[in-house]
Amino acid sequence: MIKQKLVLIGNGMAGVRAVEEVLKINPENFEITIFGTEPYPNYNRIQLSKVLQGGTSVSDITLNEWEWYEDNKIRFYPGESVTSINTKTQSVSTDKGRIESYDQLIIATGSNPFMLPLPGADKEGVKAFRNIKDCEEMIEYSKRYKKAAVIGGGLLGLEAARGLLNLGMEVDVIHIYDYLMERQLDRTAGKLLQVELEKQGMNFILQKNTAEITGRKHVTGLKFSDGSKIKADLVVMAVGIKPNVALAQEAGIPVNRGIIVNDYLETEIPNVFAVGECAEHRGIAYGLVAPLYQQGQVLAKRLCGIRDEGYQGSVLSTQLKVSGVDVFSAGKINEDESTKVYKTYDDWNGVYKKVLIENGKIAGAVLFGDTKDGNKLFNFIKNESRIEEYLESSQSVISEVNTVADMSDDELICGCNGVTKGSIVEAIKANGLTTVDQVKGCTNASRSCGGCKSLVSDLLACTLGDQYQADQKEAICGCTTLSRDEVLAEIREKGLTHIREVMNVLEWKTDGCSKCKPALNYYLGMIDPLKYQDEKEARYVNERMHANIQKDGTYSVVPRMYGGVTTSEDLRKIADVADKYKVGMIKVTGGQRIDLLGVYKEDLPKIWAELDMPSGSAYSKGLRTVKTCVGESYCRFGTQDSIGMGIRLEKKFEGLNTPHKVKMAVSACPRNCAESGIKDVGIVGVEGAWEMYVGGNGGTHLREADLLFKFKDGDDLVEMIGAFLQYYRESAKYLERTSAWVDRLGLEHIREVLSDELMVKEFNNRINEALSVVQDPWNEAIHNKNLLRDLYQTVKI
Ligand SMILES: Cc1cc2nc3c(=O)[nH]c(=O)nc-3n(C[C@H](O)[C@H](O)[C@H](O)COP(=O)(O)OP(=O)(O)OC[C@H]3O[C@@H](n4cnc5c(N)ncnc54)[C@H](O)[C@@H]3O)c2cc1C
Ligand code: SF4
Repeated sequence: MIKQKLVLIGNGMAGVRAVEEVLKINPENFEITIFGTEPYPNYNRIQLSKVLQGGTSVSDITLNEWEWYEDNKIRFYPGESVTSINTKTQSVSTDKGRIESYDQLIIATGSNPFMLPLPGADKEGVKAFRNIKDCEEMIEYSKRYKKAAVIGGGLLGLEAARGLLNLGMEVDVIHIYDYLMERQLDRTAGKLLQVELEKQGMNFILQKNTAEITGRKHVTGLKFSDGSKIKADLVVMAVGIKPNVALAQEAGIPVNRGIIVNDYLETEIPNVFAVGECAEHRGIAYGLVAPLYQQGQVLAKRLCGIRDEGYQGSVLSTQLKVSGVDVFSAGKINEDESTKVYKTYDDWNGVYKKVLIENGKIAGAVLFGDTKDGNKLFNFIKNESRIEEYLESSQSVISEVNTVADMSDDELICGCNGVTKGSIVEAIKANGLTTVDQVKGCTNASRSCGGCKSLVSDLLACTLGDQYQADQKEAICGCTTLSRDEVLAEIREKGLTHIREVMNVLEWKTDGCSKCKPALNYYLGMIDPLKYQDEKEARYVNERMHANIQKDGTYSVVPRMYGGVTTSEDLRKIADVADKYKVGMIKVTGGQRIDLLGVYKEDLPKIWAELDMPSGSAYSKGLRTVKTCVGESYCRFGTQDSIGMGIRLEKKFEGLNTPHKVKMAVSACPRNCAESGIKDVGIVGVEGAWEMYVGGNGGTHLREADLLFKFKDGDDLVEMIGAFLQYYRESAKYLERTSAWVDRLGLEHIREVLSDELMVKEFNNRINEALSVVQDPWNEAIHNKNLLRDLYQTVKI
């Protein structure tokens, strides 16, 4: 069968959801290509607020990992923008000079933040809040500056303000109206919200019109139309969005506010569709995910030739994702002559509830302080239920669990993803699901804003009864109900040796996912390193390729440089290779190595062969590097041979697989020039001894390492590091850094385990066994014809 070429412009929430739906219906029908301006795999934009608020990293919000594209044979061009569409030749061109033809084209370019055209809006320090880059820039600003001003007291502005407060900034929120979130709340709820947020430290400047952003090159403050001023080092504009339609407009595709589409998401040009925030359906361009996901489902059916009634438009509901504040609204929010209201206001507890009634039917609701009725009211609004129904159901509510028990099967639990109670209950029963995460993996419920998590949990409780409590454990992913410990025990007991075998014997519910496959690969290799055959296809792309993939699709090459020491001969080789292959950049990394950036995939094996140096494993879930200070060789303060110890450690542990990356450092005195205090294992030389620190992390979740032991003898130190690493290998969950592992197990516990000499010996025996089969991956790749062909295309060396 000849596949149709389906091209998607925009790797965002709506477009990729449409592709996911297509893959569900007919995975064989299309050859899919996706272009995305942003250099990341598809992520959950909604959760950017959580990233800004701290505790959530960018990888936590990824919806589909790089592997998903590969697994589904999608040609994905991250960091590449489509610059024009030719509807006559049915092709698109990109900023990288690529021309791609299509049979069907989906435009899903989302929105651009609306930037007020104020004098000074182009100054440094004026930002929008739309993507990962904006988030990262704000985080960077918060490290250098103190005062932030957020223009816009709507949903996005308040989430940005909360995030900046968490980052330690002082925040003024400027709003043109006299109360907050005027599009989603009425005045009473808006005022209550203000009081609550003021308690959290936000400062509000209401009914103010910004006239100018002051400062020379960099922003210094805001000036208002009444002449008053405030200081600010960072200004975040969150005043609205406008559909990103330029591409369509230039291609002659009819556009109003958004790209005009009919009920099947068809534009007026044949074979061109638009979905998401860039599309306008029956005069509305939506700015929330629930309608966009509904559109995605309809579009997928249309592309796969399934006829249905099409997209009929959506009723919207809103929730604020600011911690400690419960706000919900849906449908109509302000009363007028045609409405009646049912209102309760508990000033003491700060609970406000308003239900709007039109012709006896529920037409809208605003809840503040207690939003547990939100979903129920949302369903009533969509079904145009009578107010009596709501009042009756409210009186019968005894507990949350009863609320879900009372819901009918077709009522929505997850508004964002359109998942009903009936489909969740069915999935729980059919697949033996026992945790919220499994329900999420299986049904998509709570995969977006997460607001329905407690309802999903209630639903599990009332579907499983007592079993729910008993079965509460963290499964390794949604493909199984088994926890990490259970899986490991079964592998050991049954002598399982392959990923597929584990899945078959332990009755996996799927063919595995990007979470369980790499984890199983690691666990199997850790349990029996001598017998285990690495399953490359289960590894993340960087580990499979033995190089870090960069945002433009090129790779980076980091040769090993033991202890950060190199020779003029090696430097010459590196320089020659860099010249010959025209690498984009030569960069000295924070881990004291040289990084060759911008290498094409097909050049990787040739470069490795010409370098003739071992891999620096800069991509691995294993030992990365051992950073060293100059130490006794040259430094006036050094009392120990830090370089010698660093090289010894790196040579001993290189190539070891660990649950997550491991970084080490050795400093020869407490001045700590190698930054040993923030490494997984950090060594500090003191007069006549070595101190061993563990669990440090210099990444997003900064953690200072803890002193574990002190050794006079270098051999004892190396033996303890071996025992520590093996204990971590054996007891950490896959992808758990030592910092989180030390916190979970407790330092005292780890110290106690490693105080047992016999245990230390046994750990060392097992780690030495694992180290005995380590091979240099670059060397292996350049000598293995199959690998060369499958991974790096056929290249001659
Ligand atoms: C901080 C924040 C919080 C939010 N919170 C919520 C919430 O709580 N609830 C809710 O329902 N919604 C929320 N939203 C809105 C929600 O994220 C959007 O409605 C949704 O992401 C829109 O999906 P989309 O696919 O249309 O656009 P996007 O997700 O923006 O995707 C469009 C993609 O297309 C890319 N692109 C654009 N032009 C091109 C081109 N020429 N070539 C290639 N790629 C291109 C863009 O770079 C972008 O990655 C929030 C948004 C933000 C920013
Ligand atoms: S850590 Fe001490 S010994 Fe090492 S370079 Fe710094 S000052 Fe010198």
